[in-house]
Amino acid sequence: MEIVDIKDWGLGLSEHVLIAGPCSAESPQQIESIAKGLRGSNIEIFRAGVWKPRTRPGSFEGVGSEALGWLDKAREILNVPVTVEVANTAHVEAALKAGVDVLWIGARTTVNPFSVQEICDALKGTDIPVMVKNPINPDLQLWLGAIERLNKVGINKIAGIHRGFSDPYEKRYRNKPEWSMPIHLKRMLPGISVICDPSHIAGTREIIASVSQRAINFGLDGLMIETHHDPDNAWSDAKQQVTPDTLKIIYENLNFRETLDKHPEAISELDEFRQKIDLVDTQIIELLSDRFQMIKQIGEYKREHNLAVYQPNRWHDVMESRINSGVKKNMTEKFMKSFLFAVHEESVKMQEAQLKEKV
Ligand code: PEP
Ligand code: MN
Repeated sequence: MEIVDIKDWGLGLSEHVLIAGPCSAESPQQIESIAKGLRGSNIEIFRAGVWKPRTRPGSFEGVGSEALGWLDKAREILNVPVTVEVANTAHVEAALKAGVDVLWIGARTTVNPFSVQEICDALKGTDIPVMVKNPINPDLQLWLGAIERLNKVGINKIAGIHRGFSDPYEKRYRNKPEWSMPIHLKRMLPGISVICDPSHIAGTREIIASVSQRAINFGLDGLMIETHHDPDNAWSDAKQQVTPDTLKIIYENLNFRETLDKHPEAISELDEFRQKIDLVDTQIIELLSDRFQMIKQIGEYKREHNLAVYQPNRWHDVMESRINSGVKKNMTEKFMKSFLFAVHEESVKMQEAQLKEKV
């Protein structure tokens, strides 16, 4: 499967793409005011939802095709490509006709192979870039399947968007992030860029900065952040949108970490540390093995003298003294306890097996 890196889409995108713009296009004035506010930011693609997939009927479902034309103004003001969400043939045809530069497939669509295939059929013969949000449920195969369907109709400028997963028990996030998932996708599809959508993960604007930083730490390739000139009065997703000025502050405070492939000197320096770690790990394993040998000898003694395997006083002393030594060496009590419990559990099991052997 050939997938073109976002930097090679011919749109002048960087390795830390910033996509910004409102959840929904509301009016020509709203688009213009947000675009003007975003001047001087690092925005590389302007987003706006024109058809909105709402969970329940009765909420604002987007202005529809009419709003596609308003995006020209944002392109003109910011000199960046524009993107909208498409969910069926009619959307694709209208978006292509209006000259939208990039499309995205929403989470509620990725989940349905019929809808994805319908979009793919409508895209046949074009080479417009398409970003695919993860499905609402944490199913890597569905996400992968949507990308494969696009690729089969000849689309190879494809990126993923991690927007978190629906989880009824989750309290902190609107959609819980599962950072291993985008990383897995990148491993399976070399060349694919995966962007994070902290807005739909967070659900509230207060944690957008921290979710964004985590995405960068995990090596994702950019951010899609919902931005509105008057977030509290936005017609959809009001709680999670930020003003253009807040977006600039969030972006300026991000710490973009470098990947190792660009720093060969770091690789060799890290290698030295890693060799030392390898050596220490080997020693730890040797010492543990010695400890278990002794446990076996003690087990033999206990068996011969008809003594119980578990000796509470001894165990209490071991725990107390080892935890104290560990804490003095800057390890946490919690870590020391779980480590000692694991070692003790294994020792007891070994001695019980010895008893059984001889019965
Ligand atoms: C959106 O980006 O506004 C949107 C509807 O997102 P999602 O598909 O991630 O819910
Ligand atoms: Mn939204």
